[in-house]
Amino acid sequence: MTSLTDLTLADMRDGLKAKKFSAVELAEAHLSAIEKANAHYNAFITITRDKAIAMANESDARLAKGQGGTIEGIPVGVKDLFCTKGVLTTAASHILDGFKPPYESTVTTRIWDQGGVMLGKLNMDEFAMGSANITSYYGPVKSPWKRKDGGPDLVPGGSSGGSAAAVAANLCPIALGTDTGGSIRQPASFCGIVGIKPTYGRCSRWGIVAFASSLDQAGPITRTVRDSAIMLNVMCGHDPKDSTSSPLAVPDFEKVLTGDVKGKRIGIPKEYRPDGIDPEILAMWDKGIKLLKDAGAEVIDISLPHTKYALATYYIVAPAECSSNLARYDGVRYGLRVMPEKGGINELYEATRAAGFGKEVKKRIMIGTYVLSAGYYDAYYKKAQQVRWLIAEDFRKAFEKVDVILTPTAPSAAFAIGEKQDDPIMMYLNDVFTVPTSMAGLPGISIPGAINKDGLPLGLQLIGKAFDEETVLGVAYAMEKMIGFNAKPQGIALGVAA
Ligand code: GLN
Repeated sequence: MTSLTDLTLADMRDGLKAKKFSAVELAEAHLSAIEKANAHYNAFITITRDKAIAMANESDARLAKGQGGTIEGIPVGVKDLFCTKGVLTTAASHILDGFKPPYESTVTTRIWDQGGVMLGKLNMDEFAMGSANITSYYGPVKSPWKRKDGGPDLVPGGSSGGSAAAVAANLCPIALGTDTGGSIRQPASFCGIVGIKPTYGRCSRWGIVAFASSLDQAGPITRTVRDSAIMLNVMCGHDPKDSTSSPLAVPDFEKVLTGDVKGKRIGIPKEYRPDGIDPEILAMWDKGIKLLKDAGAEVIDISLPHTKYALATYYIVAPAECSSNLARYDGVRYGLRVMPEKGGINELYEATRAAGFGKEVKKRIMIGTYVLSAGYYDAYYKKAQQVRWLIAEDFRKAFEKVDVILTPTAPSAAFAIGEKQDDPIMMYLNDVFTVPTSMAGLPGISIPGAINKDGLPLGLQLIGKAFDEETVLGVAYAMEKMIGFNAKPQGIALGVAA
């Protein structure tokens, strides 16, 4: 029997309209799943039970009158990077201890305005810096997936690891994530679900704790492409409070889900086949290419020659912006304050920042400060910005010939908690296929592509032209149907995960 927590957003929407169940019943089903499972997964930092029930009651009242928004009564998990009014917002950092924002982010405001019901705030890497959800002050998140022979607990990916684990484990049908270099797509890939990073500027960044402002984008993590399209309809749109928010009209993203890819030109970049790449990832990619060909798409080889510089460039630009953005956490205005017995304001800053930030965040602040300092600015930061432009140009030229680009999402399946932890280069390599899209500000989606020999999901990425989420979603929807991925993590089969 399907339980309420198995349903997709689209099914919930229809079921609520048909009065098969109420918004309160939906909220209750998810809250009890969370309360049972969260001690194991550690996916939620804060569970907002009372708020959820109150919001669900309001939704039921509106639904009873035949009113309600696009996602009226649908439970939503929120990455703890979005400011939520009066609700603890931590960015998974000690330095934001006790921070309850006096305002609501634009994206979450849009979600509540359309009837979303808030279940709680989801764990993540500290300030969204990481690829495995192991840098959180609140501890690592466990993936609901296990290797088929058991073995150690696996990471859900990061930085939106709590969001991906919660959606994969049916603790919420949809969750909000953010993606700076891959943080929606890579965890979606690791957890066998769907995640889309829209074009930079599609979703307002207002009220999202900033990591690297020229890269950060909000997006949904869901179990189906349709659910991502529905969420984008709610989340996207111009916001005068964010100067980089696009004034372009937002189309109805659900309308493009026809399943037809005939005549679509699909680009296959040769640079995404580096030496030593896992053959199972290549096999999944080749199968995806074949499916599209068989369905009448035209497959075209392309070259994105500056791909090899993307990671190096990203790890200059992102730390530079983070060192500037995180300067505001000083013990005076937000969260944690560590007051040394002796000394003045400088000692307060030092003690607070020393105690409040974790190792990864400190490392990035130091790298960022270095690449921005007089004497090094031209050699590193300016150079990186120039290379970033070349990366964007590669895509621009490729999109003269193709409508969408197909690649793997990540170079590996999920790894064990603790693995790669002491090897920053290996950890940073996780984003080798997602970072170029971010540097160019383009939309990218990850959908489940295959299960590997260990029984773990692998993701396929589709990259589109700026503001062409429609083609990305349309092709993703067709591929989702053709691939027919239906594996579920053992966490669900076990009831909770042992
Ligand atoms: N893993 C990348 C990093 O550590 C990307 C993170 C993100 O997209 N927020 O910076």
